[in-house]
Amino acid sequence: MNKITIAIDGYSSTGKSTVAKQIAKVLGYVYVDSGAMYRAVTLYALQNGLISEDDFNKEALVYQLDKVKLSFEFNDVLGYAEVYLDGENIEHDIRTLEVSSYVSKVAAVADVRQKLVAIQKKMGEDKGVVMDGRDIGTVVFPNAELKLFMIASAEKRAERRYAELKERGDDITYEAVLKNVTERDYIDTHREESPLVKAKDAIEIDNSDLTLDEQFDKILQLVKMTVEGLE
Ligand code: C5P
Repeated sequence: MNKITIAIDGYSSTGKSTVAKQIAKVLGYVYVDSGAMYRAVTLYALQNGLISEDDFNKEALVYQLDKVKLSFEFNDVLGYAEVYLDGENIEHDIRTLEVSSYVSKVAAVADVRQKLVAIQKKMGEDKGVVMDGRDIGTVVFPNAELKLFMIASAEKRAERRYAELKERGDDITYEAVLKNVTERDYIDTHREESPLVKAKDAIEIDNSDLTLDEQFDKILQLVKMTVEGLE
């Protein structure tokens, strides 16, 4: 079977990573969570006092970017690679509402994007990759054979994310999650550098009323059609 590149973009908490992991698993592809990389840089900025509620020292972050040592290690149990910062597994730490509340500001910085896009392009060099994010089909892999653009109502997305964070034991409210989701949507779609837009050749999937199984079946079908079309 021909290996293809699958780019999944869309708004926050549209379930991109859930379906991307499922698809990568059945196809034996590599799954890459590009958002985790932006979250990792945000964690670095927080840990080093470069960003806070009323201050963001972009210049210092850009100056220190070479010191942000990101790496990935495949976790056999989970079936995908986890993100490490300076050799430390940060998967749990990057999923907090605090990191979520700063990440879109960090992701709007051109130099940060340049560094991470270069890493992402390299990870997809050999195809057989499913990558999710905001600019995968437009900037990282403009020639991806299959591009998906996921949408769902803000309320549905906040409900799902709220349930996820509660499950982890985080102390948060639904209202705070909804606020974060809508704020990130706004910043991600309005930034100057690679804003979140649907690629012209992307297929839009509204999963507001789809179960996980229905969504998976639909996307797997699209993958099969794409691969068959190449043969
Ligand atoms: O996918 P996730 O919600 O974890 O991404 C966190 C944030 O990282 C997004 O809200 C967005 O600001 C940024 N991001 C981005 N480009 C990507 C992936 C994520 O700007 N390719």
